[in-house]
This record gives sequence, structure tokens and C-alpha cells, in this order.
Amino acid sequence: MKNWLLAVKQQLSQQIINNKLPHAMLFSGVQGAGHEEIAQWLIKVLLCQQPIHENSNEALLSLQPCTDCKTCKLFASNSYPDHLTIVNEKNTIGVDLIRHLSQFFQRTAHIGHAKTALVNNADTMTVSAANALLKTLEEPTTDSFIILTTDRSDMLLPTIISRCQKIEIRPPVGDKLLAEFNHQGDDAFINLSHLNELTDSAAEIAFAEFRDMVQYYLCENRHRNEVLATLVNNDDGFRWLEKILVDLMRDHWGWQISKNRNQYNISINRQQIWQVYNLVQATNIKLKTLVQVNRQFITEKLLAEISLVVQKTTKK
Ligand SMILES: [Zn+2]
Repeated sequence: MKNWLLAVKQQLSQQIINNKLPHAMLFSGVQGAGHEEIAQWLIKVLLCQQPIHENSNEALLSLQPCTDCKTCKLFASNSYPDHLTIVNEKNTIGVDLIRHLSQFFQRTAHIGHAKTALVNNADTMTVSAANALLKTLEEPTTDSFIILTTDRSDMLLPTIISRCQKIEIRPPVGDKLLAEFNHQGDDAFINLSHLNELTDSAAEIAFAEFRDMVQYYLCENRHRNEVLATLVNNDDGFRWLEKILVDLMRDHWGWQISKNRNQYNISINRQQIWQVYNLVQATNIKLKTLVQVNRQFITEKLLAEISLVVQKTTKK
């Protein structure tokens, strides 16, 4: 288990024991932070007929599913009738799936006292799906729990977020994180691949190279193909691009691409960065919400739009 999840489990366990757990929960974090793991744990604990109290200290108590009762066994074999997991097909969660979820909550529980539903990658809901979910969130049925997870809570409708208890899972960074993984043995390698540039020096180098390419591309219209290739082929590409732009906005004052600026260097102003950032965000939404999407085409279109923004304002 990731050590940093323990405090979250303790907090949630306390809420369950005090009967203070809200009807809707949203767990977010960067990929691999453990939000999906927490969601799974919470569902098992909620459904288990006799959860185990770990640790004798009341204040630091964390519940665990017993793994032995009828519901635990049914859940483990994927045949527990009072739980529903929504799976995003074709990269989006459509309105039909959410309607199915609403109907699921309308029916009485078959076995247990509680009913649970899990929506992973909640940010991939289409707008109509999100609106349908809002209705369910507004009219909770007794002992029903909706659990949402997302790597991108900024892509969720604010109205959804405001109806959930939101818990952001933040893993420690840098050496602390590596130390954390070293405690876990082999399992670490699976997780390391998710937190890429924080943990893996190869990914860190790839990120740094991409950052340079993006800066050259924005300033001098060079390295377009390298930027395009990373965005199309690297799963982290778009997230990296956003991170670079946010960093640029933050440090804009001191930012220069090279000390020996020549006549071809173009400075890029804050407004341009902001415009580029918005274009990237819009493309990201398209990539997430369109059912059939040609990643190459959409990314090329984005780069063309970025070029326009950068060139237009620099001619002034
Ligand atoms: Zn159990």
C-alpha cells in the first residue's frame, strides 16, 4: 500500500464510523497517486458486513474489508449485485451509462445495506452524461454512495465537484517518493511508470527535452515535428505541454530561451502564452470527449493554431 494513503483511509474510516460519510465522493490526483485505489478500498469497506478495525488507537483507526463475509466474497468475484462500476467505452462516458446508474440506485438493495457505484475517469463524461449525473447527485437514495475518480478534476463541471466531498490525493515528490516506492518491492515498478517524470530519470530527461522543443517552437517556430511527435505518441505529451505553459505563465518575468539571443528570436508575451494555453485546453477537451478522434489530425490543427497566435502578435 502507498503509505500516503493511510491518512486518507483513517479520515474516511472515522467518517464511516461516525455516520458522516457523504453520499458522493470525488477522489482526484495525478496518475498513479492512488485515488483509484482509495475508491476501491472505500467501496469494499462500505459493502463489507463486518469490516475489521485496524490499529488499536481510536483516532488513527482505519477500517479494512474482512474479505471473508458473503458480500466481500461476491464482490471479489465480481458478482455482487448492489455495486455498479461504470466503465468508459471509447474513451468517454456517455449519457446512457449514467442513466443506467440512476436506475441502479432506484432499485432496492438485493443483499446488503448499502449500494455503491464507481465512476472512474469521471472527467471523460460527456456534457449530457454529467448533467444526468447531477440529477442523481441531487436526489440521493438512502444508503447509496457514488464514488468518482479522476486524474483531471479541472475538466469536471464545477456543479459536480460542489456536490461531492472532494479529496485530492497528493503523493510525496522527489526523493521522498522514491523512498516510498523502495519500501514496496516489486510493485514499485508498476507505479513508477505512472508518476513518470517525478521518479524516472529517463522520463525526466524526455520531459526536459520536450520543454526545450516547445520553447523553441513557440519562439522560433523550430522543431515543430518533434513537438508533434511527442504530443501524438507520448501519453504524457499533452499533460507535459500544459505543465510547460503553466510554468511559463508563472515565471514569465525571467524567462528567456537562450542567453545569446539572435535576431531570429521572438519573444512571446503573457497574452500569447495565455491564448496558447487555452488552445491546448480546448484540444484536450476534444481529445477526451469526442468519440472518434484522430489524434494526429487534431494535434496538427492545434500546432497550426498556435503558430497563428505566436506569429500574429509578434508582428506588431
Ligand atoms: Zn467482509
